[in-house]
This record gives sequence, C-alpha cells and structure tokens, in this order.
Amino acid sequence: MAKYLFITGGVVSSLGKGITAASVGRLLINRGLNIRMLKLDPYLNVDPGTMSPYQHGEVYVTDDGAETDLDLGHYERYTGQPTSQKSNITAGSVYWNVLQKERRGDYLGATIQMIPHISNEIKDRIQSLEDENPDVILIELGGTVGDIEGLIFLEAIRQLALEVGRDNSMFIHLTYVPFIAAAKEVKTKPTQQSVAKLREIGIMPDVLVCRTEVDLEQEHLDKLSLFCNVQKDCVIVEKDVETSIYEIPLVLSQAGLDEIILNRFRIVKPSKPLTDWEALIETIKSPKGTVRIGVVGKYSELQDAYKSIYEALYHGGYAAGYEVDIVKVAAEDIEKDPSILDTVDGVLIPGGFGSRGMEGKIRAAQYARENNIPFLGICLGLQCAVIEFARNVCGLTGAHTTEFDEERGEKTEHPVVCLMEEQMDVEEKGGTMRLGACPCILEENSKAFDAYGTKKVSERHRHRYEVNNNYREQLEEKGLVLSGINPDIGVVEMIELPDHPWFVATQAHPELKSQPVNPHPLFKDFVAAAVKKAEG
Ligand code: GLN
Repeated sequence: MAKYLFITGGVVSSLGKGITAASVGRLLINRGLNIRMLKLDPYLNVDPGTMSPYQHGEVYVTDDGAETDLDLGHYERYTGQPTSQKSNITAGSVYWNVLQKERRGDYLGATIQMIPHISNEIKDRIQSLEDENPDVILIELGGTVGDIEGLIFLEAIRQLALEVGRDNSMFIHLTYVPFIAAAKEVKTKPTQQSVAKLREIGIMPDVLVCRTEVDLEQEHLDKLSLFCNVQKDCVIVEKDVETSIYEIPLVLSQAGLDEIILNRFRIVKPSKPLTDWEALIETIKSPKGTVRIGVVGKYSELQDAYKSIYEALYHGGYAAGYEVDIVKVAAEDIEKDPSILDTVDGVLIPGGFGSRGMEGKIRAAQYARENNIPFLGICLGLQCAVIEFARNVCGLTGAHTTEFDEERGEKTEHPVVCLMEEQMDVEEKGGTMRLGACPCILEENSKAFDAYGTKKVSERHRHRYEVNNNYREQLEEKGLVLSGINPDIGVVEMIELPDHPWFVATQAHPELKSQPVNPHPLFKDFVAAAVKKAEG
C-alpha cells in the first residue's frame, strides 16, 4: 500500500501551494521514491477546459488528453514525471460521476448523501492511483481551509487517513505568517486559527510550512509549535526566495523536510544532494547576459495565462546561460505599430482562442519573418504564421482561418486554416478538439529535426483547427517548409522558413513538457537564436 501525503493551505490563497507540493515531490523522487501527485480542485466545473484565463490561468493538458489545473504543470516541471487524467479531481467531476451512477441505479435505491457517496467517490478516485504501485501518493487540496467548497474534500481525506492508518498518512499545512510593518511584528495568529479550523474537522497537521516575507525567530517557531500542536522540528520556514521559484526544493531540503517525511513514514532511503538543481540555481544566479523575448498575446496583463510558455522560455534561457526578459506585448498594439518588436530579440506567439488580437498576431508573424527576428509560433501561433505567409507571400489576400467566420460575418475566401471536416467536405461539422499526445514525423533536413535530434516526436495538443491540406502545395511552392507531419491523420504539425535565422512554428504545445533541468529542445534553440541576435 502507498503512503498518503496530504498538503492543505491556510490563511490566504496564492501562497504557491502547487510549487511547494511539486518541490516536495522532487525531494521524494530524489530520495529514490516512486511517487504520484494529484490535485483536488473544489470548484464545480467538471474540468477547467471552458474556464477563461481571467478565472483560472492556463489550462494544462496531459498526454492522455485531460484539460487540467495549471498546478499539474508545476508537478511535471519539478518532478519530470508525466501527470494524467487521474491527477486532477474537481468537485464538478466528482458530483457528475455520482449523479450518473445515481441515474443508472447503481446505488440500489439508497438516499445519495455527501457522506458517504461524495466522500467515497473522492477517496476511490485518489486510491485508484494505487494501481500504479507508487511508494507515496502526494495529494494537494486546492483553496484554503475554511472554504465551503473544500469541506467535503477535507472530510474525505480525513477518512482516508483514518482508514490507511497513522503510519501511512501525513498532513502538511502550508500557511502564511505575516509581518505587520506598522507594528514591526510577525503574527502567528492567522496560522493558529487556520490549524484550529483543520482540527475542528479532525485533521491534525504533522508539518507546518510557513510562508513568510521575513526571517522568523525561534520564539515565533516555538509559539507556532505550541499553539498549533506541531512538533518543533516540524515547523518549517519557507521564506520568499530571491532568485527563482526553482530554489524551493533546495530550501525545503535544507530545512530537512524530506527527512521528516521519510521518518514519519518509516522509510529508510539514503539522502542524496540535489546536484542538478544546485547547478541550475548557480546558472540562474550568474547569467551571461539578458535576452528579450516578446510574447504577443491576448492576456498579457495576466500572470498565469501563459504560465508554461513563460517557464519554458526561462528554461531555454537556462540552457543558454542567459536571463530571459519576457516582454508582454498586447497583440492589439501590434496592429497599429509592429515596430515595437524592434526592441526584442525573439517573438513568440502563444496559443489562443477567439478573434481578439488576431490581426495583430498575424502582423507580428509577418514582422518577424521580414525582419529576420527569431520566431516561435505555438498552436494559434502556427496558424497565424501560415495565414500571414499565404496572404503576403502566396498572394492569397483572402487567406484566414474559418474559426472566426461567424464572428466576422463572412465566409473565408482562402481557408488555409480550417476544421478537418471542412477540408473533407463532409456534412457533419462538429469540430472536436484534438487533445493530448500526438505523434509527428520530422523532415530530416530541418530546424525542427536539428532541435529534437530525432525523427519521431510526440507533443500535446489542444485545438480544433488545422492547416488546410488543400493549400499545402501552394504554401510549399513559395518556400514554406512543412517540417512536421502527423503520420496518423496526415496533417501539418510543424512549419518553418529555411531562409531565416530561426522561424519555426508548431501546432502542438511543447511548452507543457519543458523542465528547468531539461529544457524543451524547441525553446532551447529558439532562445539560442535570440541570444545570437542579441549579441549581434
Ligand atoms: N483556436 C485554435 C484552434 O482551436 C488554436 C488553439 C490553440 O492555440 N490552442 O485550433
């Protein structure tokens, strides 16, 4: 049986619970343990697939095609381990399953109740990870203790801990210890109250991880220990880091958190230094220089809308030994004046839905092509690059994607990007989303192949529209290289320009698979090309 490690959050949200959980995951893997991570999300959406980036940040897609919470991105970046459908449980999906079972008559006439039906469903879903035989299952509960939505999840994990027994379960509570500037005092009361709330439900935290902006004195730690009923050496300080969020595994390891967890679970494994992470932080702390990458998006003001893209760019920078300065450019501004891109060393167009900013993105792709600025197009970014090329190089002025026909109130004259069904002229036009891992075969003599160093690759997808195969010949004739093709369904996966320093676009989302200690090859080569430009 696996050991169950639960991570809850207290006082306020935005403490970086996902990053802390992912860092704990990294520490346990480093100790030679086989782990699985999962996130419990108490909101009522079945998945975050339809939520606006304003609400939720990016939607993270797994290999098996689940649209999930962005914390799973942290898990993968820190642990290097893929997540799956099983790694994200929302309240919406829990209720959905229970109600479907009820309609099917699976409960044999019983009254369906929060306890045991909803709590059992949550426990069953968590425990289904036992099939994969992990040593430890790490469960992060979204939200803050005290949220109404989170209650049933707390109840479920309390029951689960009781069932598996004390030696096999452990609770880490991530909390906030504020410093009140006017009084020049650190305050432990919010944490005391948050732990009291947990205890009311029957959960006794074994470890407190205290997020703070200042150093905590021994007297604060003693107080937290006494009032929260947590052993002194299990009160851990996680102060804001100066350099990078990737320092957190080192911070928690220095505080001995992996040792505490192993002791508690009575697991004996030798300790090992986090060598690659130490080297990573060294690189981050002493960059050779700065490279400016313009990200031309629609949600430039949001921190989390392009989370994995920003992280993958930083990772590309680590590989080059450069700091990446991300310049968030609003696509709509480019429409008026693309020359703002003169100040950047590389242009990236991320994925997107909806027509706002579309013409600005198309203009940005054109500007990068014509001015030899390294370019990476992601999903909608590829579609923009193809539309631009069709319009301005192939002379197909009416080229567009059919995605916005309805909104624009006209039928695209040259649908260079459209739904699969539209290419095949069939009656049924559903437009199902291509989700999850898809294979791609690369052209050997290409920048994409140079980056990956292998012919067959697999990346994750989340889109409906494709390059229209009926226009392939015209595009290729004018010099667009279709460097990646999907061998299963014969659609374009990657494009590039041979007579350009570095102009590559992909229909997939490679950013989802980049890790700080193992940067994604496309991001690595893109940033390297930008560094070359920066250095002149
Ligand atoms: N909206 C486009 C499509 O559905 C692109 C999606 C994306 O960039 N993820 O094909």
